[in-house]
Parts: sequence; structure tokens; C-alpha cells
Amino acid sequence: METYDSFEYDVLVIGAGGAGLRAAIASIESGASTGLVCKSLLGKAHTVMAEGGAAAALGNMNEPDDWRVHFVDTMKGGKFINHPRTVEIFAKEAPDRILELEKYGAVFDRTPDGKISQRPFGGHLYRRLNHVGDRTGLELIRTLQDKAVSLDVHTHMEVTLTRLLLDDGRVIGAFGYVRDTGKFVLFRAKAVVIATGGWGKMFRVTSNSWESTGDGAAMAFFAGAQLKDMEMVQFHPTGMVWPPGMKGILVTEAVRGEGGILTNSLGERFMFKDEYMPEQYRGQFAEDEAEARRWLDDKKNNRRPPELLPRDVVARSIYKEVQAGRGSPHGGAFLDIRHRGAAYIKAKLPSMYEQFHRLGDLDITKERMEVAPTIHYTMGGIAADPETCATTLPGLYAAGECACGLHGANRLGGNSLSDLLVFGRRAGLAAAEFAKANAPGKLDEEQVEVETRSLLAPFEGGNENPFHLHSEVQDIMGEHAGIARTTAGLEEGLAKMLAVKARLPNLKAEGGRAYNPSWHTCRDVVHMVALGEAILRSAAERKESRGGHWYLDYPNESDEWAKKNVTATFVDGEVRIGSSPVPEMSPELKALFEGKK
Ligand SMILES: Cc1cc2nc3c(=O)[nH]c(=O)nc-3n(C[C@H](O)[C@H](O)[C@H](O)COP(=O)(O)OP(=O)(O)OC[C@H]3O[C@@H](n4cnc5c(N)ncnc54)[C@H](O)[C@@H]3O)c2cc1C
Repeated sequence: METYDSFEYDVLVIGAGGAGLRAAIASIESGASTGLVCKSLLGKAHTVMAEGGAAAALGNMNEPDDWRVHFVDTMKGGKFINHPRTVEIFAKEAPDRILELEKYGAVFDRTPDGKISQRPFGGHLYRRLNHVGDRTGLELIRTLQDKAVSLDVHTHMEVTLTRLLLDDGRVIGAFGYVRDTGKFVLFRAKAVVIATGGWGKMFRVTSNSWESTGDGAAMAFFAGAQLKDMEMVQFHPTGMVWPPGMKGILVTEAVRGEGGILTNSLGERFMFKDEYMPEQYRGQFAEDEAEARRWLDDKKNNRRPPELLPRDVVARSIYKEVQAGRGSPHGGAFLDIRHRGAAYIKAKLPSMYEQFHRLGDLDITKERMEVAPTIHYTMGGIAADPETCATTLPGLYAAGECACGLHGANRLGGNSLSDLLVFGRRAGLAAAEFAKANAPGKLDEEQVEVETRSLLAPFEGGNENPFHLHSEVQDIMGEHAGIARTTAGLEEGLAKMLAVKARLPNLKAEGGRAYNPSWHTCRDVVHMVALGEAILRSAAERKESRGGHWYLDYPNESDEWAKKNVTATFVDGEVRIGSSPVPEMSPELKALFEGKK
């Protein structure tokens, strides 16, 4: 029998991005012994890549912003399939979490009168994104990391967990391997928080890093937890398209927030076309280019330009322009910020200036960028209770991008970073409470043995190259579950995905167990195939177009599907799809929409 190292905590937090770090801080401050595990290094994760800012209605910009407006914007952006109570908690608590972060030591950009500066972003009625230039994620993770380290958090870096351990349906720990040695490791815990981020890496053109393989959601799924709205994947409108090796890298929405304009090959500012303005936003955006220009210097008396419509709308518009033959030379649109002047651009968008300079040999103060939609975020994920982030499995909590409920059919930019703070904290508190109230579960060595055999199987004579299978998964998802979906395409994609699934038992890892990407990819692919199947099946189930799910056979929103979340569960090795009713809004929340919906 293989040996393993063993650790025991009250609370185990899997993932050290913003959600995991905030959960660990809350758990430790509640008095629970807490272990924090991440598969890269502390201070990395996706969160460090975040650029534009964290949305919270502090109301610092002399605009009548408050939690109610943020609530309305988030529900509208999510096309009303978000969990209303989750959104309410989020909008109410986000300002406190931002101010708390400042107390921890975060240094935000300031207004001339010394308040935290807030920038405009897509789908937010008022300037609401608290930011640090275009490096907000770096400041957020640095601050949370410092705080967690000051509380003496027990961190296990470069550890990949692969399986949740169960005692009669309750989650009591997790098992996996240490990446640099290949040794196995087991964590026992009274409660577990999953904060492992999204699964953008199942697509080739993505803004996400290697870590986004959906491990946490897949582990929870395999253990029996319910997933929701997996069809809802976000295409960010502006990823790099050139040079080819940089395709998909994010061009932050902050460029449009700071006044960047989108044009097609004819030089038209196409977002002003009537066909691209959704009914629900009509009248809320600048009427013509003159008003949009005035808005740059006078936000009080002019409306936002339509480049700041929600991401799903802008991404589809770029896609349609390209399909109509009006794309840029490399198949995108032009994004132009030159009119803001070099000094302003370098002060407000320093990372973008450097990114294009270094990766594209292009000076954005002098030339236009080329951009096209890129996979950016996963709105669907592990179903989580609004108050506690509890999943459908006792002892298991989920927060951050891996969880589902807040963003509905489309996430508004900036709403992720504050999501991590609000629900990371709530998950940590609830997990610590659960740990106080429950004795440790009973460890079943049989589960450990099964997982050990499964992890070692790729060393025993298969013939499937994991990198090739990963590439096939990316082809399938890009071709069949991309920005524009059809029944025929989804069916063909599912057939191809099931064919890949059938080959998983033959995965082959080259070399030994120490620092072996070939071996690591074997398990990553298993996770991505499971979640890919859930996405394809969920997409076929939702017979309408809504937010990130643009279904050409059903091009309109349907009243019936407006009331449903799509659910996915893993039963006897199969993905089962169903639906559950979108929770009702309280009368007080409903009243906020009077005359607005
Ligand atoms: C380029 C870019 C820019 C963005 N800009 C913004 C922005 O301006 N504003 C905004 O609100 N959002 C932004 N986002 C989105 C936001 O950054 C992410 O949604 C958010 O950071 C996710 O945080 P998280 O804590 O859920 O997960 P992550 O930050 O992705 O962290 C996941 C953690 O889980 C660990 N992990 C994963 N699998 C395992 C495993 N099997 N075992 C152990 N550990 C594991 C990882 O190592 C990591 O520590 C941006 C995203 C990108 C890619």
C-alpha cells in the first residue's frame, strides 16, 4: 500500500485565491485550526491577474449609488436567474469588505478629496469599481496574503487535491498529491471550503491561466454535490487576437471604462447601432458619439457610451461584426484609447500599456488595439446557500468562482473580486461554526486506496497522451459550446466528449511522479471532461438565449426558462440534468425594479 502524509484541521480550505484566503482568515479568526492548500504558490492564483477593480457601492464619486442600485444592476446583468438573496447579501456587504481590506493595508487609487477612487465598468450604472490602476488583483491578494500569514495560517503550497473524502455523505477531508515530490497527502477536517476557481482552460482561447481546470467543482460533483447553470460561461468581449501566441489574453474592461472606443473595419463605432441595444437598457446610454465624448469629462450630465453595455452584449456585437465581414485584419474589432493621451493612459492603464508593448510590439498610446471575445469566467458552478455558502453536501462549503448563485447568466465586471471577499468570509465563518458543532468524521481507508489506484493508473500501460486529450477537449468546447450554439452543434460536441470520456481509462503518464506535468494533466483532463459534459448537456437543456448562453435555435429569452436554474448531478457515473426554480425575490427587492425592468 502507498504511504501518505497526513494533516488534521478543523477547517480545510482548498484554494488560496481571494476566496480561499478570505475564508481562511474568517475561519482562523473564529478560532478554528485551519489548513490552506493551493496547487501553485501563495500569492498567485487567478485573483492576482485581476485588473480593473472590485465593485462595491461606496458612493464616493458624487453619484447617488448605494446597495440597491448595485443589486438592480447585478440582477439585470445576470438576466434574473441569479439567486436574489445571494445578490442582496453581496450588494449590502461589499462596501464593508472593501473598507476592511483597506484596514488590512490595501492602497487603492484616491479621488482628489482622498476617498477611494471608483471607475465606470460595463453594466454598472454608476462608477463603482474600487481599483489600484489596472493591477487591483495584485493588491487584493497581497493584502489578504499578508493578513493570513500574520494570523499564522498553515499553508500547503504546490499540493493538488483530487478527491473529497466522505463519511456517510458528509465531507470529512480530501486526498491528493504534492506536485514537486509526487508523494500522496491526506487532510482530515471537520469542514471543507472549496475555493478553487473556474474552468476556463477547457477552452483554447481564454484569459485564464493553467490553474483553471475546474478541479474543485469536479471533486464536489463526483462526491455528489449539485452543480447549477453550467451552460453559463462568460465570453469577455476584449481579448488580444494578435500575435497568435497571445490570443485570448485579457484586455481589461477598464480600457472601455476609461473611454476606449470600439470600431469596425469601416471605422464605424458599431456599438451605437440600434440592433445591439437591448430593450432593457434603452435610454440609459449615450445617444450619439457627441454625448459619449462629453461623458469623458462630465459624467454627471451625460450617459455612458454603449461600449459599457454588459459583456455578453458587447461580445456578441463584436462577433456579429466579424461574421458580417467588418472585422479587423486578425478577426476582431479595433479598440482605441489614444484620445485619452499618453500620460493618462500610462497612469490609469499601466499594465495594458506594458502588455501590448511587450507582447504585441504595439504602443497603445499611438495605435489601435485589436480585440475579440475570449473565455473569461464561469458563472455556473457548485450550488451554494446564500447565507452560509453550504453546498448540498454536509460539511462542504463553496465560495468564489467555483460557486454558483451570484452572477446568473452573465457576471458584471468587478463583481468577482468583491464576491470573493463577501462569500469567502461567509464560507469561512460557516465552516468554522460547523467544525465547532461536529466531531471529526470516520476515515474510510478504502476510499483512499481507490483514489491512490486511480491516480497511479496512468503509469500502468495506457496509450492516451493527456496533452492530446486536453487539446481535443478544447477543440470540442470551442467548436460546439462557443459563443453561438446550436442543437446540432451541441449534440455533435456531446458525442465527441463522450468518445473522449471513453478513452480516459487509457491515459498514460510519461516519466516519474516528481514535478510531472504529464501526470498532472491526466487528472486535469478527467475533471475537464466531466465539467465539459455537464456544460454541453446543460446548454442543450436551456432552450432559450440568455446572457452568456446564445442558442441560435432559440434566439430569444423565454418566460418559462426565466424561472429555472439548470441543475447537474453525477449519479452512478452519469451526468444527470434537471432544473430547479429560481428563488423568488422578497417584495422589498421586487419593489426596487418598479418601472425599471
Ligand atoms: C486576466 C483576468 C482579469 C480579471 N480582472 C478582474 C477584475 O478586474 N475584477 C473582477 O472582479 N474580476 C476579475 N477577474 C476574475 C477574477 O479574477 C476571478 O474570478 C477570481 O480571482 C477567482 O478567484 P477565486 O478565489 O475564486 O479563485 P482563484 O483566484 O482562481 O484561485 C483558485 C485557487 O485554487 C487553487 N486550486 C485549484 N485547484 C486546486 C486543487 N486541485 N488542489 C489545490 N488547490 C487548487 C489554486 O492553486 C488557487 O490557489 C479577472 C480574471 C482574469 C483571468
